[in-house]
Amino acid sequence: MLDQPARTDNELDAWDRDHFFHPSTHMGQHARGETPNRIIAGGEGVYIVDRDGKKSLDAFAGLYCVNVGYGRKSITDAIAEQAAKLPYYHAYVGHGSEPSIRLAKMVVERAPKGMSRVFFGLSGSDANETNLKLVWYYNNVLKRPEKKKIISRWRGYHGSGVMTGSLTGLSAFHNLFDLPKAPVLHTEAPYYYRRADRSMSEERFSQHCADKLEELIQAEGPETIAAFIGEPVLGTGGIVPPPTGYWAKIQAVLRKYDILLIADEVVTGFGRLGSMFGSDHYGIEPDLITIAKGLTSAYAPLSGVIVSEKFWRVLEQGSDEYGPIGHGWTYSSHPLCAAAGVANLELVDELDLVRNAGEVGAYFNAALKDTVGGHRHVGEVRGEGLLAAVECVRDKDGRVFFDASQKVGPRIAAALLEQGVIARAMPQGDILGFAPPLCLTRQEADQVVDATRRAVEAVTSAL
Ligand code: PMP
Repeated sequence: MLDQPARTDNELDAWDRDHFFHPSTHMGQHARGETPNRIIAGGEGVYIVDRDGKKSLDAFAGLYCVNVGYGRKSITDAIAEQAAKLPYYHAYVGHGSEPSIRLAKMVVERAPKGMSRVFFGLSGSDANETNLKLVWYYNNVLKRPEKKKIISRWRGYHGSGVMTGSLTGLSAFHNLFDLPKAPVLHTEAPYYYRRADRSMSEERFSQHCADKLEELIQAEGPETIAAFIGEPVLGTGGIVPPPTGYWAKIQAVLRKYDILLIADEVVTGFGRLGSMFGSDHYGIEPDLITIAKGLTSAYAPLSGVIVSEKFWRVLEQGSDEYGPIGHGWTYSSHPLCAAAGVANLELVDELDLVRNAGEVGAYFNAALKDTVGGHRHVGEVRGEGLLAAVECVRDKDGRVFFDASQKVGPRIAAALLEQGVIARAMPQGDILGFAPPLCLTRQEADQVVDATRRAVEAVTSAL
């Protein structure tokens, strides 16, 4: 009976196989029990514990979201207190609750200069859906009905909804789903290691990316392009920090053609790079910013869109002309999630986690480079703050990649897990991703680096 607690692990496994439709999972293999179930039972600091009592250092912070680490009582208490007082009220037609208002103020105070208001959703995907609608609304208010296309980058990740899946420049997220192609266009990924000619400097490659963008804008007609969306550091597409000068050159093109800039800071927002926002880190001046993950450290689902004052003024003009904006979710600014957000951001300040991410991040990145960077099958180690990647290759000098069927990345991630460290095999290429909680210590960083060295050696020597 489903309404009874599981009596045995076997029973729980059977219920899982028979009833639980997992995201991003090989459905057949899972349903047939060919892949191991990993059922996580608890967590403390940077560690999680599975139901068998096996402890692992979570060097990917869930899905780069548990930024403050597990088991933070101040956040769980805040959620419980809010649940007892007022579990829910909506925010439509000027309603609200205290945590949402306080959180909006805290977010805007921390946001890059010029940002003014925040709209709350629940996931990074829905926040980017909001971005697209707002951009189209904006150009309708400004009587520019043609200016609607959105430029994203190959290897960008912006969600897996209908339109946000189209924005995502990774084929696995749109193949077979018939997602609409228009009005989304993709441009060059700023992926120096894979995309640049050997003779090109980083600066020159950044110029090449800006030139490609400008060519696309001219080919389509600048009057048809509304916005450009990009993550300050490419995340799911491979954890790729921008090449030198990239954002300045891209922004110059966008300004020239009056194109809005959406900075998708779902991963980089709230400290991951060692700055409060990736936009501050790279001198990006966005019109809209997507936030999620680090906003609550995933203690409750919450996302947001931060809009600039300039953008907000056009939204106000729209309401004056056409009435209340017809956009919102039942759970926009849900009080429990907002209470989690307030307590989470307080903790980020109290523990000085942004500074820690910068300092321990620099230490971690340097240690990874020193330890595995010279390995014959490691093509590149790259990162910024507490975000890092190790890209494995068959032939280092020739920059030749492994065949995907060899599953080198997933095998190294599995070897790391055996040693009690969780890294993520990124979805495209043999790239191991690291994004630990921002409270990581140097000793914990050493543990991750040592395990990585052993895992890379064990897997590549067996090839
Ligand atoms: N944008 C970025 C940059 C992301 O990394 C993600 C998720 N990894 C999303 C958007 C989508 O967020 P969600 O999975 O919460 O919809």
